[in-house]
Amino acid sequence: MVNLACCCIAVVHLVQERSWKQLQLQTLILRKEENKRYCETLNFKFIDADYDKDNWFDRVKGLEDEPERGERCTKCFDMRFERSALFAHENNFSLFATTLGISRWKDLDQVNNSGLRASKRYDNLTFWDFNWRKQGGSSRMIEISKREEFYQQEYCGCVYSLRDTNKWRKENNRPRIKRGKKFYG
Ligand code: SF4
Repeated sequence: MVNLACCCIAVVHLVQERSWKQLQLQTLILRKEENKRYCETLNFKFIDADYDKDNWFDRVKGLEDEPERGERCTKCFDMRFERSALFAHENNFSLFATTLGISRWKDLDQVNNSGLRASKRYDNLTFWDFNWRKQGGSSRMIEISKREEFYQQEYCGCVYSLRDTNKWRKENNRPRIKRGKKFYG
């Protein structure tokens, strides 16, 4: 089975699009390396699909001010699921799934609908829309994150989610997010 582990990545100053893309890549690398490390401990094969940042920025153009769980996120999920479905198809997998929906910040129906849409591109490919939050999944996620001391990213992943989270923090007298500093444990 193919599992889509991460929708996308992160980060900072809203100065120039060129800088945004470079900054997004920095946090992607941090999260990806943790993912790879953990896959190694489980003896799982890690497939590093291209982040394809230019495509991502093109797809979400005009949706920069959408709230989280809005249309920008649908585009974001669609892009990642389409890539996962293609990989599954090209490598003769009949089933794929994702852990994206385990986060309580995500709209599970929105995630699953993107997965289902992508699966329909190919015959004999099924998207497994399992609810990973159930059967103790959410608490298990925290337990493993603490044990492995994973990076705890305090926003979803793109520059726009970082911008909006920092705006909320400012309005609520909370400090700005410091990228790459907070870990479970
Ligand atoms: S907030 Fe950004 S990174 Fe998160 S799902 Fe939406 S578009 Fe993707």
